[in-house]
Amino acid sequence: MTSSYVTGGEYLTPTSIHADRAGQRLEIEWADGHRTVYDFTTLRWLCPCAFCRGEAGQPGWLDSGPTLSEAQTQLTDLQLVGQYAVAPTWADGHHTGYYTFQRLREECPCPADEARRRDAPHEAHRAG
Ligand SMILES: [Zn+2]
Ligand SMILES: [Zn+2]
Repeated sequence: MTSSYVTGGEYLTPTSIHADRAGQRLEIEWADGHRTVYDFTTLRWLCPCAFCRGEAGQPGWLDSGPTLSEAQTQLTDLQLVGQYAVAPTWADGHHTGYYTFQRLREECPCPADEARRRDAPHEAHRAG
């Protein structure tokens, strides 16, 4: 019997989140057995904050296709945000991106998930 209700179920429930600074990657194990690995550069490009992504229809910093410096792809700390997200701190001081578990799972860069997104393109806004 479970007393708490978990939205998203095992699919969106990490059992382990490990920032491997030597290997430059973030490893996530999910309750359903899946494993997601992001290299820090890929993770930085996914930053969902208003500064990086833009807001109110305005493009964000990442939309301008910047060249990321080494500091901007160095993860120095990782905070858990409630039961739904993690907030990385980058060596350039950037720390405003809350990466929800849902986003981390849906953007999983493993070959199986790449294929899944390719076969079911629910976001077909990629131009050129
Ligand atoms: Zn950001
Ligand atoms: Zn995956």
